[in-house]
Amino acid sequence: MTSAETVGAALAACRGRIERTDARILMAEAIGRPSSFLVAHPETVLTAEQQARFAQWVTRRAAGEPVAYLIGTREFYGRPFAVSPAVLIPRPETEGIIDIAREAFPTAPSHVLDLGTGSGALAVTLALLWPEAAVVAVDRSAAALAVAAANARQLGARVDVLESDWFSALPAARRFDLIVSNPPYVAEGDPHLGEGDVRFEPPGALAAGADGLDDIRRIAADAAPRLASGGCLLVEHGYDQGAAVRQILALGGLARVRSWTDLAGIERITGGWLDAAVDEA
Ligand code: GLN
Repeated sequence: MTSAETVGAALAACRGRIERTDARILMAEAIGRPSSFLVAHPETVLTAEQQARFAQWVTRRAAGEPVAYLIGTREFYGRPFAVSPAVLIPRPETEGIIDIAREAFPTAPSHVLDLGTGSGALAVTLALLWPEAAVVAVDRSAAALAVAAANARQLGARVDVLESDWFSALPAARRFDLIVSNPPYVAEGDPHLGEGDVRFEPPGALAAGADGLDDIRRIAADAAPRLASGGCLLVEHGYDQGAAVRQILALGGLARVRSWTDLAGIERITGGWLDAAVDEA
């Protein structure tokens, strides 16, 4: 391979090996400029270091590694979150939890819990939305918690992180007004786990038993005693799990259980409240 010297030449040289949009993102990151700069200034000469970094990323991307892991960041709810292979890459579907939470709590809840926080995307976004709320983020992976803590620090959010397998390490008396979670929900053996970016993500953050619902069952079984009066649990799930998750949440003693559809009309998030009565105060 001949060495490409300019932005334009380097981008042209990798055509056909990786997606054009991916190449642009990697190049922008390699030279520390916005992608609009690449289009405007293809004649920009790359330093040897930039050229080497870009070439290495293209090779790794061509082998399947997710762009977010290569550049170490992914945007969630308009903010850049650091990511590593220790955490799931934040997905646009999960932003729906933030929108639903904002709707459910027009005024800030006092106590918020994010179960299986990963990069901290949900916990940090909610903490920035409600600076006065006490936000706790748990994960059973210490490596993931380190990423979440770093994101909270970097983005200026006040989040308490705690190593915990779901509720297990939380003090029994602790109650939350809002509990959110994007738990693992893919069925073990789902061919999807062997495709695309997902192959590089932590398996423990993706798969959850034969039907993918093991973790949602565990969360729902223990949620009610952890909710404050009027408290709400919101969980993300797979495209075909809405009915099953509504049943699981109802079995867990939650009321007013319902699902929300995403922009594509797919049930993606289901929630329930501790109390049946709606306060009309
Ligand atoms: N939506 C993810 C996927 O596409 C799964 C995320 C999860 O299990 N929480 O694989």
